[in-house]
Amino acid sequence: MKRGTAYELIQTLYPDDVKCIVCGREIRPNRYGLCNTCQLEINGNFCMRCGRHKVGIGDFCDECSEMPLYFDEARSAVNYVGHAKELVHRLKYGSARYLAKTLSRYMLDVLLLEDWDANCITFVPMHKKRRRKRGYNQAELLARELSEKTNLPCLDLLEKTRETVNQAKLDRAARMENLNGVFAVTANPPRSVILIDDVMTTGSTVNECCKTLKKAGAATVYVLTFASVPESPLLDNNGQNIADFRR
Ligand SMILES: [Zn+2]
Ligand SMILES: [Zn+2]
Repeated sequence: MKRGTAYELIQTLYPDDVKCIVCGREIRPNRYGLCNTCQLEINGNFCMRCGRHKVGIGDFCDECSEMPLYFDEARSAVNYVGHAKELVHRLKYGSARYLAKTLSRYMLDVLLLEDWDANCITFVPMHKKRRRKRGYNQAELLARELSEKTNLPCLDLLEKTRETVNQAKLDRAARMENLNGVFAVTANPPRSVILIDDVMTTGSTVNECCKTLKKAGAATVYVLTFASVPESPLLDNNGQNIADFRR
């Protein structure tokens, strides 16, 4: 196929296709926009329930057994360490909206692998004040990219009804309490939904969203995040702990 002006326009709009999105080195375009030294760590050995990288040999991690889960399956593309952390931070706080395009490619690969039977895609909402301040919701950007790539409709199903204190500073019990009843549906969800977020930390946020969607009638809810905090310790090939800190 002849590459015309549309292709050139995309190259101009999304510099990630010509430069490494982490180090900025000029590289040959690859589909993730990364050079060989800035590879992200794919989440390979994952918990069959919550999708986070697990340490043991069983099917499930220890993390998600501590709370009731309202999603049917959760998966994430990469571990929330190193460059993945940096990229999420830039997408979230650095106005790097264009990153949604490349980060969603990792997520698409997971979707194709899982082949979930879903009617739509939706996303974890932000409180409207916070969204106005930031100008966008990064989870929504990822969801819209995935919708375009899969032809599943992206539906705006949830709203956040009140502002909450930063989850990062709270332990698990406090997170669940902080989020209790904070989401509401804005429309009736279809039978089967894929919920999108950028990062899964303890899973409390996506879990609360799934609880809300199920109460409103969704029979199945899947969760897909770009990254997830691995079950610690996350060891590299030399036995070094590479999960430098947990959020
Ligand atoms: Zn690089
Ligand atoms: Zn788990």
